[in-house]
Amino acid sequence: MNGTAGPGRIAQVLLPLPLPGALDYTVPPGLDVQPGCFVSVPLGARQVRGVVWSARPRNAEDAGRRLKPIGALVPAPPLSAECRAFVDFTARYTCHLPGRVLRMVMSSPEALDPPPQRTVYLPGDTLPQRFTAARKKVLAAAADGPFEAAELARRAGVSPGVVTALARAGGLAALSQSADARFDAPIPQAGALRLNEAQSAAAQTLTALARQGGFAPALLDGVTGSGKTEVYFDVIADVLERDPEAQILVLLPEIALTQDVLARFARRFGAAPAEWHSERTRSQRRRVWRETAHGRARIVVGARSALFLPFSHLRLIIVDEEHDGSYKQEEGVLYHARDMAVARAKCAGAAIILASATPSLESLVNARSGRYAHVRLPSRPGAAVLPPIRTIDLRAHPPARECWLSPPLIEAVQHTLERGEQSLLFLNRRGYAPLTICRKCGSRLQAPDSNTYLVEHRQSGRLVCHLTGFSMPRPHACPSCGAPDSLHPVGPGVERLHEEAAALFPGARIAVFSSDTASTPAEVRRLISRMEAHEIDILIGTSMAAKGHNFPALTLVGVIDADMGLRGADLRAGERTYQTLVQVAGRAGRADRPGRALLQTWQPEHEAIQALCSGDRDTFLAAELNLRADMGFPPYGRLAALIVSAPTEKLAAHEAQRLAAAAPLARDVDIWGPVEPPFARLRGQWRRRLLLRAGRDVDVPALISAWRARVTLSPKVRLKVDIDPYSFL
Ligand code: ADP
Repeated sequence: MNGTAGPGRIAQVLLPLPLPGALDYTVPPGLDVQPGCFVSVPLGARQVRGVVWSARPRNAEDAGRRLKPIGALVPAPPLSAECRAFVDFTARYTCHLPGRVLRMVMSSPEALDPPPQRTVYLPGDTLPQRFTAARKKVLAAAADGPFEAAELARRAGVSPGVVTALARAGGLAALSQSADARFDAPIPQAGALRLNEAQSAAAQTLTALARQGGFAPALLDGVTGSGKTEVYFDVIADVLERDPEAQILVLLPEIALTQDVLARFARRFGAAPAEWHSERTRSQRRRVWRETAHGRARIVVGARSALFLPFSHLRLIIVDEEHDGSYKQEEGVLYHARDMAVARAKCAGAAIILASATPSLESLVNARSGRYAHVRLPSRPGAAVLPPIRTIDLRAHPPARECWLSPPLIEAVQHTLERGEQSLLFLNRRGYAPLTICRKCGSRLQAPDSNTYLVEHRQSGRLVCHLTGFSMPRPHACPSCGAPDSLHPVGPGVERLHEEAAALFPGARIAVFSSDTASTPAEVRRLISRMEAHEIDILIGTSMAAKGHNFPALTLVGVIDADMGLRGADLRAGERTYQTLVQVAGRAGRADRPGRALLQTWQPEHEAIQALCSGDRDTFLAAELNLRADMGFPPYGRLAALIVSAPTEKLAAHEAQRLAAAAPLARDVDIWGPVEPPFARLRGQWRRRLLLRAGRDVDVPALISAWRARVTLSPKVRLKVDIDPYSFL
């Protein structure tokens, strides 16, 4: 056979590369190639690993095609049909090439290699001739094994040399074992709490949904501290108990920084879950990937990228804090992990629970229309209730010049200090000042390759662009006019607020909680422990401090700038402000101490602020939803952004115009732009944006691929498609 004709099969192999689709290869006789198998195939001079997407018998049309054969099967569990369908769905939905999505699935290439081995020891069959006291200790310790030499020596309290000598003498049996240890099996009822009535009812409803089998989405909607986590723990326990193969995925926002949640999983299920996020080492990722593919990791807790793990028997997905903005991936393949989690549950025929105290409008509308089951948890367990929320009208109570704390808030902090309780001052701005201007020439300091303002960080003495990460030492003279000592900080960041609080409350123990002061999980943990141990009186925090922590002595939350989110003027500004403020206000007063929240605002009459103070979410939602319905915006319509970037402004503008001119005409579709975005220059590239709005029934991905096919842009231009954009910068 010459490889171009005759009987045999052809496999379509998808590679984790930016190619238009799967490539055809012949299947060598005797190789059992099925869809989902990992294979290695020749590509040019290289051997590349990919996944068989489909296979078919060779037919007449293949005659004369010069196809290369598959090189080898990779001995790994095949990628499930469900996972392959999810790759296809994600690629189509987000308008990205399927190979780029597969690359997210094949995120731990080492996991496809045979696992590295390690040598472990057990007591041997024969007793050594020389039977010293040290050797006796080793044998006794080895009985609890198998252990590696170092571990065995540690347990026996001897030097590793004793272990290896004993093994040579035949006293220990050496075994070769995979270096990737299995995860301990979770114990469904290990640390179960007795749920209160409302929690039990919620858990029962959700469990019943999961037991039905098949795709079943639900929104678990309950105030902070109402016990949502305990409720979904119960549902997880039931799924584990009923199906010995079931795998469960729990997505958490910013998991790398919330280690206490992981400890809670370990206590509840008597075993640490598999943990997946970008802070993990390569070997930890390899282990999780492999164990997930084999179906042996039963509970995986991860960041958004855990959605692309190769589960073989996924039965339940939890998306905790489903409203959280960090679920939107803004680099590479642009996707929203909450939405893609729903898609994966659909592909897998699994249940999915979206949990939040402040659900997104998208999920609420789905719950109201009956597409999602709506499970509510009305109040906190025990006596704790949501704190009263009041505004401080900054027009009536302005702070002193160059200061940001108003007299009523200062008084409230003072009062809290006197009662021996803790305060949280919330300001979602890192650094010292968000803007630096020259008092001489008026110029505002910008990054050299972007038109973003540089944020002063006084601790590090640098000016930083928060969007691109560019930074430089703070200059002594104005870079524009050269005037010495003319640079002046404008506006507050947490560092500046710290300075103000330290002057106002001498003697108080004050700490800043932001990604600059707590950049590693260990640092976050330390800050949280200090707060829990009441070693801090006033915590000044960014949104990091607003997330799920439970500080029993915290009774006052002061929001420095409640209007901040409202100024951004994107479609979710009101919603996002509402969510952040509810979350941060929810930090005050848990358990037995009542708390309160004070919001400093210039516009106390704004709907989002009013709704917050009245605790009337439904009124706020109704108004917000009316606005969205009028505009045909999500959740009543669809949006997609097209972002053109080019090395010169002229080219960006020209190519964006050409793209706009090629826009397809379709019913219930509007195309706006191109416009110059707020950040018209980023990392040296000039940018233009177009926005597409369409009715819910419009197939936006199909429309966009038709649109792209109608115009060939300059090869110097990059076009980014962002389906369901959350950032409009
Ligand atoms: P949420 O996820 O809604 O913010 P959690 O599940 O984290 O709420 O619960 C808040 C706190 O209350 C946790 O410390 C939790 O252990 C505790 N808690 C919740 N429900 C119960 C219960 N039924 N019995 C005892 N403690 C509970």
